[in-house]
Amino acid sequence: AGSIPPTHMDLCDGTRLLFTCEVCPDGGRVLTYTDVSRELRPEALDDMEKINAELRFNTETMETHAAHLASLAEQTDESIRKVEEAKQQLEHEIAERRELEAQLRRMATTDGLTGALNRAGFLALGQSEMERVPPPGRGLALLMLDIDHFKLINDHHGHAGGDVALKHLVTLLATRIRRSDLLGRLGGEEFAIVLPGISPEEAGRMAERLVVRVAESPVMYRDELIGMTVSIGLTMATRTDRSIEKVIMRADDALYRAKEGGRNRVVTDFQAEAVVTE
Ligand code: GH3
Ligand code: MG
Ligand code: MG
Repeated sequence: AGSIPPTHMDLCDGTRLLFTCEVCPDGGRVLTYTDVSRELRPEALDDMEKINAELRFNTETMETHAAHLASLAEQTDESIRKVEEAKQQLEHEIAERRELEAQLRRMATTDGLTGALNRAGFLALGQSEMERVPPPGRGLALLMLDIDHFKLINDHHGHAGGDVALKHLVTLLATRIRRSDLLGRLGGEEFAIVLPGISPEEAGRMAERLVVRVAESPVMYRDELIGMTVSIGLTMATRTDRSIEKVIMRADDALYRAKEGGRNRVVTDFQAEAVVTE
């Protein structure tokens, strides 16, 4: 009798129907039903509200995390900048230290007066040259060079004049040898030159040229010319030579003979054994 409130009815196939029954003016009734299976149920609305609340919470959490991460990133940037600064500082210090080491090495291997290699520097570099294999037909030449009657130069021009002569000689020699050659001051007025990768003939010509050049090139000191001559002993390293000292000794013997022979000359001591590579 009368109207009934809208009523849901679930069918066994999962369809949900909404029934309404209305009384018409003529007393009749109209029963309508609508398929509401696809409409959201109140429970579903509740669920959605819950899910929405959860999503809101999660979004807030994620926003908090994002803010936290951004601040961490800022701190990390600052740390990276500090590390970069420290790295640059360290690199600068390392470069300075290297330069200092190089300076010390130079000082330890260079003769203070003339700038030529000192004995230790010459021996070390000469030995490493000995261990290199020269191109075919070439070998390692060693010249021992000693100023003739240097004592007389000192006596006449004084020790300072003698020093000027020594420096002058080194300039003369250094400008006449190749960049790959080694020039060392082994003692007071005694020098040695290593000519790597040279033939015996070229080495001989080079030694002769040096003797002539020195004799022709006096140096001015206190309005006076200091002239000098040198004697040279020349040898080539042989296959059996292991140490530079052995080669020096042979060149020294040749130098002694150059002195004996009258000075201002070259004496060559080329061994019978092969002195150059094939
Ligand atoms: P020789 O022709 O036989 O080589 O005679 P020399 O006079 O050149 O040789 P000696 O070895 O008798 O004398 C070398 C001199 O060199 C003696 C020494 O006082 C001098 N001398 C050594 N070192 C230096 C130096 O650094 N400066 C100066 N001015 N003289 C030096
Ligand atoms: Mg001398
Ligand atoms: Mg001498």
